[in-house]
Amino acid sequence: MTPRRLHVITWGCQMNVYDSARMTDVLAPLGYAPTARPEDADMVILNTCHIRDRAAEKVFSELGRLRRLKVARAEQGGRMILAVAGCVAQAEGAEILARAPYVDVVLGPQSYHRLPELVARAARAAGAVIDTEFPVEAKFDFLPPPGHTGPTAFLTIQEGCDKFCSFCVVPYTRGAEASRPAAAVLAEARHLLARGAREITLLGQNVNAWAGAAPGGGTWRLADLLAALAALPGLLRLRYTTSHPRDMDDRLIAAHRDIPALMPFLHLPVQSGSDRVLATMNRRHSAADYLRLIERLRAARPDLALSSDFIVGHPGETAADFAATLALVRAVGFAQAYSFKYSPRPGTPAAAVPAQVSEAEKDARLAELQTLLRAQQAAFSAACVGRVLPVLFTGPGRHPGQIAGRSPALQPVHVGGPTHLIGAEAAVKITAAHPNSLSGTLVATPEKERACA
Ligand code: SF4
Repeated sequence: MTPRRLHVITWGCQMNVYDSARMTDVLAPLGYAPTARPEDADMVILNTCHIRDRAAEKVFSELGRLRRLKVARAEQGGRMILAVAGCVAQAEGAEILARAPYVDVVLGPQSYHRLPELVARAARAAGAVIDTEFPVEAKFDFLPPPGHTGPTAFLTIQEGCDKFCSFCVVPYTRGAEASRPAAAVLAEARHLLARGAREITLLGQNVNAWAGAAPGGGTWRLADLLAALAALPGLLRLRYTTSHPRDMDDRLIAAHRDIPALMPFLHLPVQSGSDRVLATMNRRHSAADYLRLIERLRAARPDLALSSDFIVGHPGETAADFAATLALVRAVGFAQAYSFKYSPRPGTPAAAVPAQVSEAEKDARLAELQTLLRAQQAAFSAACVGRVLPVLFTGPGRHPGQIAGRSPALQPVHVGGPTHLIGAEAAVKITAAHPNSLSGTLVATPEKERACA
């Protein structure tokens, strides 16, 4: 088999990171091995994200750059296959082929298992091939086991979304909610653990809506799946993201109390603290519902650290609505959060609303919100100083002699320590908090370390 080189450019969320890895896996049997240099690649995949502001324009700008590499390769007598994947490919496939006819393959997120066939067709064909259907077959049934190695791994258990929030393209680009069967998830988890994973993060656009076929018949919810995964030998830590408040059922809340491997950190987007805005966003919960949910989660797991997403300047958002968001943030106290200015996504209901908030107002509100969120994050990190935290070491640190890992609340932690601890969890006394990380010293005795085989 001719060895070939593959370069994948990944934009967007952890699900795209996972998808890029799976596309790499599916192309490996064709002889494609990853290269860090696009100019050396026989195939370049641009895995796109539609959440980005002016997403399509950014794709066309990047494609212009890649076109130059493709032309240079052709001048040397070679061929570079150029593929566009992800949500922009799904939403704008026809336009991509019209505006960038040098693209060879356009494929939506549900078609990654068909990539070898699409590449073979593109290699034979003069024109481009496009596959942005929502196929009837489940792509996961056709993907090879992940080639992943390393202490932390992602595992997609659910795709798509039925919530139709006013600002979001996911229901249009990823389709309806679909859950992988529990047996398939457990098999992939065992495979990841055998390859060195110690922490698994379950992924889904709306992961806590997961409702998959149970191994013995019937349906499991996420709490059942977490319990089964926690029992797998070698697994130290579990996480799941991203969740919708309406899908936090009683048993999932109890799982935060009952499953020690489930890390005390939850990313639970609320988007706004104003009931009026939440209604126009079609979130179908109120600010009070969210606060009650947080109370119940904290009752189940008192050390639970919380993260969220916020959109400021959603169409129609007034100063009073924004003040309600600040009030909700103050009431919860977040360990970290992501906040964005609203920007219209073509085809979504919010994009058609005439009462758009001015850019200047959005800028001012975002700055105010981020100042508050940064202060909360700094307070959360400062409260860690002096405490002893279990840290799962994932790789070398920035400086010689350092190793780096993650705290239970997902904070990066740097310590001086031996590299043989990478892949193990050890106790660390936190000595300093920085804006986006912690540093500390190892205090683990060998018997306290949960070293892994
Ligand atoms: S729940 Fe999340 S993925 Fe679904 S429409 Fe709303 S923002 Fe998009």
